[in-house]
Amino acid sequence: MASTIRTHNLGYPRIGEKRELKKSTEAFWRGTLTLEELQTIASELRRKNWKTQQAAGIDLIPSNDFSFYDAMLDMSCLLGNVPARFNWKGGVVGLETLFLMARGPSEAHALEMNGNSQVTASEMTKWFDTNYHYIVPEFDQNSTFKLSSNKPFDEFQEALDIGILTKPVLIGPVSFLSLGKVIDAENPDFDQLALLDRLLPVYTEILQKLADQGTKWVQMDEPIFALDLSQAQKAALKRSYDTLSQAVPSLKIMVAQYFGELRDNKDAFLSLPVDCLHIDAERGAAELDEILGAFPSDKTLSLGVVNGRNIWKNDFAKSLDKLRAAHTAVGSECLIVSPSCSLLHSPITLRNEKKLDDELKTWLAFAEEKLEEVNTLRDLLESQDAASDSRYTDNQQAMESRSNSKRIHHTAVKERLAGVKPGDMDRKSPFDQRCQAQRERLKLPLFPTTTIGSFPQTKAVRSNRAKLKRGLITEAEYETFVEQQIEETIRFQEKVGIDVLVHGEFERNDMVEYFGEELEGFAFTEYAWVQSYGSRYVKPPIIYGDVFRPNPMTVRWSKYAQSLTDKPMKGMLTGPITILQWSFVRDDQPRRDTANQIALAIRDEATDLEEAGIAAVQIDEPALREGLPLRKADWEDYCEWAVNAFRLCASGVRDDTQIHTHMCYCEFNDIIESIARLDADVISIETSRSKMELLDAFVDFQYPNEIGPGVYDIHSPRIPTEEEMVELLKKAREVLPAERIWVNPDCGLKTRQWDEVKPALFHMTRAAQAMREN
Ligand code: GLN
Ligand code: ZN
Repeated sequence: MASTIRTHNLGYPRIGEKRELKKSTEAFWRGTLTLEELQTIASELRRKNWKTQQAAGIDLIPSNDFSFYDAMLDMSCLLGNVPARFNWKGGVVGLETLFLMARGPSEAHALEMNGNSQVTASEMTKWFDTNYHYIVPEFDQNSTFKLSSNKPFDEFQEALDIGILTKPVLIGPVSFLSLGKVIDAENPDFDQLALLDRLLPVYTEILQKLADQGTKWVQMDEPIFALDLSQAQKAALKRSYDTLSQAVPSLKIMVAQYFGELRDNKDAFLSLPVDCLHIDAERGAAELDEILGAFPSDKTLSLGVVNGRNIWKNDFAKSLDKLRAAHTAVGSECLIVSPSCSLLHSPITLRNEKKLDDELKTWLAFAEEKLEEVNTLRDLLESQDAASDSRYTDNQQAMESRSNSKRIHHTAVKERLAGVKPGDMDRKSPFDQRCQAQRERLKLPLFPTTTIGSFPQTKAVRSNRAKLKRGLITEAEYETFVEQQIEETIRFQEKVGIDVLVHGEFERNDMVEYFGEELEGFAFTEYAWVQSYGSRYVKPPIIYGDVFRPNPMTVRWSKYAQSLTDKPMKGMLTGPITILQWSFVRDDQPRRDTANQIALAIRDEATDLEEAGIAAVQIDEPALREGLPLRKADWEDYCEWAVNAFRLCASGVRDDTQIHTHMCYCEFNDIIESIARLDADVISIETSRSKMELLDAFVDFQYPNEIGPGVYDIHSPRIPTEEEMVELLKKAREVLPAERIWVNPDCGLKTRQWDEVKPALFHMTRAAQAMREN
């Protein structure tokens, strides 16, 4: 008998089990793959995904969730919203234009234009609080929209051709407008919501076309329901769905909300005049009862109970509680079981993970396994005797094993954390005193120069690491090579006259992975990639258990580096929030507890560095800002525990040990108070590209400690001149006292070439010298 309770999925990872999409897209960019070949590979990936979902028992399978870049950019193309500088002539927006918007002109194209091409790519930004990014739509008061792509129609047909009636997915009109930005010189304050009237007819046309093709369901994603919404946005949502549901009555519209609670947007959401509402019952678990109590009797509820954002096996007992409550409220006909959001943010499959041990694997579920969970939950919900179903008992056994496992729970770690006192988060003396002690110890000139940590990761450096991994060289050979790199880097820094040296981070592949591999409680996968943007994918470590540090992690290298020079060597550590943000984090304890466990390990590392004679220690927190919650009301709580975790790392050292921190790619205004509360002795920030504009937040706030505003844009191969850097430093000098200014690049130099870095840092030390003489 067919089930009455249905299942659905909101989106599936498109990158391919073995990163096929990345490899083929990059080959296309290099010109070694034709457009047709690329399209063929993409089409194979889509068909494979549909079949996987069909085999898993999913009733409503998404289409148009595939993308060569991201779904917002696809929407811009579909709606013909292509900024004028990309020189699109109308008609169908092709893949070349799409990539041009995303990445700017290719190097070949730029050469053709003799370097005269002024076309810059559209801005890219983070998709809510994920590590996935989208290309930001651009609007002005004259923006118009026109159906300009066949993507959703073609993909719907492509699935139909293999016998699968899919549910096309579109970004809803109000999220599309709200997540874009206005770039309008004539009318900079223009509100893009005013474009809704021009936009809705094109959405209507799209829905009508889909209905004509035989589409029964369409999913409209309105993730802005997880944000603080204005009255105007709420009104726009209502107006949009009034219009769209009336315009194409034969089509069933599902509006999807995810990534957070609805809170004060509840009424606006529940009153949308559509057939079905999807809610994220993972992140929104706390308000589920209230929503069910108010759920309209004429609508279908899609309940997202399987977390699409993590890698943990679902707890069937908890999900069944939610589903049973929903079943009681809406009945079988009107209930759909679902993941919480698109599975795009989860790796594809556990099947290929040969190196993860079996026990750990029983605690995990990636996208493929999550589909199976959705289907099983539906079965269990319909079953008269779910409790004795082996799928249920196995699941509960896995939960039990995880909650009792000695691999996860370490009494000593928990006890140490419980024993942390507020005083452990304070340095011994206030900054003024510390700064005296540090001056005496370090004896630095005015405008001291330093770098952010990494030096170029050359081919030789990377292949040395790869050889060690493959067992082609011995540990000793590997270390000798790293030592040579360190020595050369130190000699170079001495030669150009840098004041506070670094060892260069040649032993690190990645600033999070390196520490994860040294710490207990972390696991690493072989293929668990997730898309970050375009063809860039990341493979985050999994923090599964209590974190502790069996051995010092960096002391060996810093100590060796210090032994080669009389100049002060700066130790390099990654902070707890950045480690958390760039990992899959355990869900069985609050994030703050995991952050503090990491912090204690980093604290021990800092004191060990101090013990080994290192006078400055940098704790990088580039991801501090990206951890900010989606709702303003939650910011304070986050800032409080995030800052405390940093302070816990930094407060074990003596007054005369200088603590540095570093942050990049962010607006500092939102969190400047928290940055000040970190109480690092020195902070280096990325400011060169914004011509020191990003420094304003620090100046306005009267940031009390020392600052190194970046003077060298390390994202570009360009070598800045001494004069340019002096100009930037003069700007900084106008607003900050000289004795608090450091001179450094924007960020680490690992992506640069030595022949760029050498002259650039030479110019940088000369610029500092010029400032001193001034
Ligand atoms: N210390 C790191 C480096 O130099 C910092 C990287 C970062 O901020 N993302 O590479
Ligand atoms: Zn940085």
